[in-house]
Amino acid sequence: MILTESKPLGEIISKIDKKSNVFIIGCNVCAAKMGTGGEPEIKALTDALTELGYNVGGSILPTAACSIRSYESLVERNENIQNADVVLVMSCGSGSSVVATVLDIPVVCTTNTLSLGGLSKGDIHTRICIMCGDCTSSIYGGLCPTAECPKSQLNGPCGGSKDGKCEVGNKDCIWELIEKRFSGQENLPFEHYITHKDHRND
Ligand code: SF4
Ligand code: SF4
Repeated sequence: MILTESKPLGEIISKIDKKSNVFIIGCNVCAAKMGTGGEPEIKALTDALTELGYNVGGSILPTAACSIRSYESLVERNENIQNADVVLVMSCGSGSSVVATVLDIPVVCTTNTLSLGGLSKGDIHTRICIMCGDCTSSIYGGLCPTAECPKSQLNGPCGGSKDGKCEVGNKDCIWELIEKRFSGQENLPFEHYITHKDHRND
């Protein structure tokens, strides 16, 4: 899941000419889960822009903004997009980039893309993968020090790990979590020495 946060309204409107016909595209997967691009957020942005005097001609909520197939598929959902001068995309940067490939008018992304993360047990987990192109998480029992350690320490904690906490930010040292994961699990021996990653797929 791609984690996003909404940009401030002031930043969004700074990209839109007041005389423009505005159209909004949401994203019913990650952005909807994050509360940055689902039905309620589309309505809230439409209302806010309308109140400020902008002309919002319509909106659609595709399953995933990053899987828009064609301009025609957008028109099929809401033909008002044909009158748009600018399209606001309430999704991650991937979604807005894909939308831009099928439109020849300005596209404004309304979010900041934060990281690849996930939702589990009601918690949002940020930066659990940085898509390095050479996945080594199986070595660490499914956890990823490349992404979750600010220094990407692959062979153990740095000198700043104290009482299981990371010296950067308020979080557990990933090496504490890896050690807990392996402790007492004889079928999960941790005996690798990691050399370097293959970054040719970056
Ligand atoms: S090793 Fe690379 S691909 Fe695998 S989880 Fe970590 S950052 Fe993602
Ligand atoms: S304390 Fe742990 S997670 Fe933090 S930088 Fe050092 S090794 Fe990485």
